[in-house]
Parts: sequence; structure tokens; C-alpha cells
Amino acid sequence: MAVPFVKDWDLVQTLGEGAYGEVRLLVNKKTEEAVAVKVVDMAKAKDCIENVKKEVCICKMLSHPNIVRFFGHRSEGTTQYIFLEYCSGGELFDRIEPDVGMPEKEAHRFFQQLIAGVEYLHSLGITHRDIKPENILLDDKDNLKISDFGLATMFRHRGRERLLNRLCGTLPYVAPELMSRSAFHAEPADNWACGIVLTAMLAGELPWDQPSENCQEYLDWLEKKLYLTPWKKIDAVPLSLLSKMLLHNPEERITIPEIKKHRWFSRSFKSVTGVKRHSETPVSKMSRTDSELSPMTRKNSNDRAQISSSQPEPQAMWEEKEVSVHSDVSVSFSQPACLDHMLIASQMLGTPGASQGPWQRLVRRMTRFFTTVKAEPSCIALRDACIAMGHTWKQSCTNQATVSTMDRRNNKLIFIVHFLEMEERILVDFRLSKGDGLEFKRIFLKLKQKLSDIISNQKVLPLI
Ligand code: ADP
Ligand code: MG
Repeated sequence: MAVPFVKDWDLVQTLGEGAYGEVRLLVNKKTEEAVAVKVVDMAKAKDCIENVKKEVCICKMLSHPNIVRFFGHRSEGTTQYIFLEYCSGGELFDRIEPDVGMPEKEAHRFFQQLIAGVEYLHSLGITHRDIKPENILLDDKDNLKISDFGLATMFRHRGRERLLNRLCGTLPYVAPELMSRSAFHAEPADNWACGIVLTAMLAGELPWDQPSENCQEYLDWLEKKLYLTPWKKIDAVPLSLLSKMLLHNPEERITIPEIKKHRWFSRSFKSVTGVKRHSETPVSKMSRTDSELSPMTRKNSNDRAQISSSQPEPQAMWEEKEVSVHSDVSVSFSQPACLDHMLIASQMLGTPGASQGPWQRLVRRMTRFFTTVKAEPSCIALRDACIAMGHTWKQSCTNQATVSTMDRRNNKLIFIVHFLEMEERILVDFRLSKGDGLEFKRIFLKLKQKLSDIISNQKVLPLI
């Protein structure tokens, strides 16, 4: 997918991929400003047009230091482009070491920022509905930014709250009340997901595949078996907060004002000079199968009543009305003929990037290396190694290939490899597209080992 109208901007790399398209990094040739563009192909799914419209409407309403900034959007045929603040720190997901997590002090800071962002959303009557470390990004200063409003919706308008009844999100993060067929309040469900994110940050694993009675780990939690993993790895004070955030009954679950008063939340950690970077490995039980869940849940939700009996108006209309009311007061972006005009004119002011060199602009990740040979031999060597390992190799264009395989647990694993020429060397960049993050990194390490004689020893990125 190209971005046809972006004249003075270089498409530097693909930042991520999602259910309906990809997110790319654009860098201005002159100013070096960086911006992320989410490219959505609306022909891919029937409900996509409505979803993207809603995502854009909601993004327009948002302005908060812990929410990804929205610059504008534009449509070209069936393709929608959503321009967003570029988060060079990558996903929170990549800061969580498998089975370990991250230092409590770091988790504490991220958690405070996450709660600030969610509190802001709720104050506007918006629920995110898919809070998880892949949708939480970090900027160049490691400030947390909630991202991906693809499933967000309005639950309150003019003080009147609407109950939700759709099962959506990502199973390990969904609250138990979403698994039952009854209507539920939006806020406790987001708060629950924040509790799962906190567990992942403190223990490096997700507590269960889903919060239902046929899941043993969840039953163990209900029986308060705190001597089991992941709980045994977590200190008593944050664990006491988690036990309130992950209460089965949403009515009893801790609210955001109460979370803010909890002694772990409000405690202070002694400041240490410089935040230590964590080794950038992913999390064992965390899989990125949300794109698989989304269609499944959509299908399920069609079987369900879309409106609860207490709701006289159809959900869709109610939501449309909500969003349009708010979008009137937000800055409205016209659709100029040229992206540069739109972005340079106003919205690009104050974006980070201008002061950054090309190195810092790349998302910090471990799944990449420089080679000592040119692009073509690099590509051939990797292709041969992949084939020798039994993976399927498909070259999509000269500098990009898609590798698909099955992981050890027989789940599908797909990743994209980019060959980028940087300062006369070849950077081979691997990006997970579908499947389990830890399995992906295991395969990456095997490939890296196989290619060791053509891999440059030079560090890929400066260690900040
Ligand atoms: P989807 O709705 O398909 O999940 P997302 O908006 O979550 O799409 O984007 C997919 C991935 O792209 C993210 O998980 C993240 O890795 C990357 N990404 C998205 N937005 C940005 C951004 N503003 N800056 C950097 N990376 C981003
Ligand atoms: Mg996402």
C-alpha cells in the first residue's frame, strides 16, 4: 500500500499491522518531522467504513498527554489514512520481559499514566474496549500514550449512561461480565483490562486465557490461591490493588478515584538517574491474536441483541448522535488536496522528530540486525535460512518479504522482513504480523544464529 499524495514525506518503515491495514512512519524530507499514518483498506470488511468513521470521530474529541495525538485523516477511494503522533518508543508490550515483567518503579509510572488516560476517556463518556500492551505506545521520553480507538465507543452522554452488551476486545484482557450475556457498565470493564496490563507489567505473564469458569487459572484466582504464579511474583502492596481491580463482580470492583487513593498508586519511588532500558523481549503467554478474536466476537455480537431492553434507541444511532455532537466542538479537519499542506500548516507544529536523527526515529526493537553484505545477498541468505527451517517465504517486493510458519504450539505465526538501506548498510528488520510474540523472537534468534557470518557486530541502535 502506498500513500500516493505524500510528496515531501518519506515512507520510512512499517510500524505495525492490524486487522484492516498497517501503520507506517512518514518522515518529512526537509524538516525531518515524523508522523504515523494508519492506512485502512475499507474494502476489506463490510463493517469497516462505519468503524473507521467512528474511530476518527472519537480521535477528534481527544486531547490528553496520555492519549496518542490525532492530526487529521483523509480518504482516497476505499483507503482511509489516519495521521497520528508518532510514538518512537514503540509498544508497552516490548518493555515487558517474559516471565519477569519490568522493575516495579517503571510499572508504577506507566500505570499512573495509563490510569490518567483512561480516567480522561471516561470523563468524556468514551470507553476504549481494547486496552492491552499492544495498544499502549510510548513516545521518545517513555511517556505512555493510549492508542487504537478502533473499538472505542460512547457510553455516556449528557450524564446519561448506556449499558453495553457486546463482547469485544481481546480475551485475556476482557472482564468476566463480558462473557455472560447480560448488559454491563463500560467503566469497570476498562478498569479490569488495566488490572491485567498491570499484572503483565509486574509478572511478565497474563494470568489466564479468559476469565471464565472453564479456565483453571481463573478459578484459582477466584479461590484466592495467591501462592500460584503470576501472583506469587508480585509484591503484597501492588497485589492488594490487583485483587481489587480483578474482582469478579463489577459492582464491587475498585473505581478509578479509589485506585488513585490506593497506597501503591500514590506511593513514590525514589528517583534513579536514567530509566534503565529493559531487554526487549516479548511476553510468553501474550499472543497477538486479537485480530482473530475481533471477527469472532463481531459474529457473536450479531447474534446478540444490539440494544439492551432499557435502551429505547438503536445503539448505532445513539452512538452516531453522540459522536457528532462532540465532533462539532472539536477541531474539524478539512480534507485538503495535499497532505503537506494539511500537516505543515498547523497540525505538525510541535511534533517530535525535527530534533531527532534517523536512528532515534526508528522504533527501538531488538528484532533487527545489520548485515555485512549488500541487499540482494542478505535477502537470499535469509530466504535460504527460512526455507531450511521449514518456513514459507514470500517476497512481496524487492525490499520486503513475508514469512509464515507454525509455532511450537501449532499456532500460525507470520512476520514481515524489511531490508532497509541505511548509511550504505543493510538493516534487516523483522516485524511480527500474527501470532505469539515470544515464539516470534525465538525464531528470530534462530535465524540470527544461522546468519551469524553475515551479521555486522555493530549495535543497531544507540543504547539510551
Ligand atoms: P489495529 O487497529 O489494526 O490494531 P493499531 O492502531 O493498534 O491498529 O496499530 C497497529 C500497530 O501499529 C500498533 O500495535 C503499534 O505497534 C503500531 N502503531 C500504531 N500507531 C502508532 C504510532 N502512532 N506510533 C508508532 N507505532 C504505532
Ligand atoms: Mg491495535
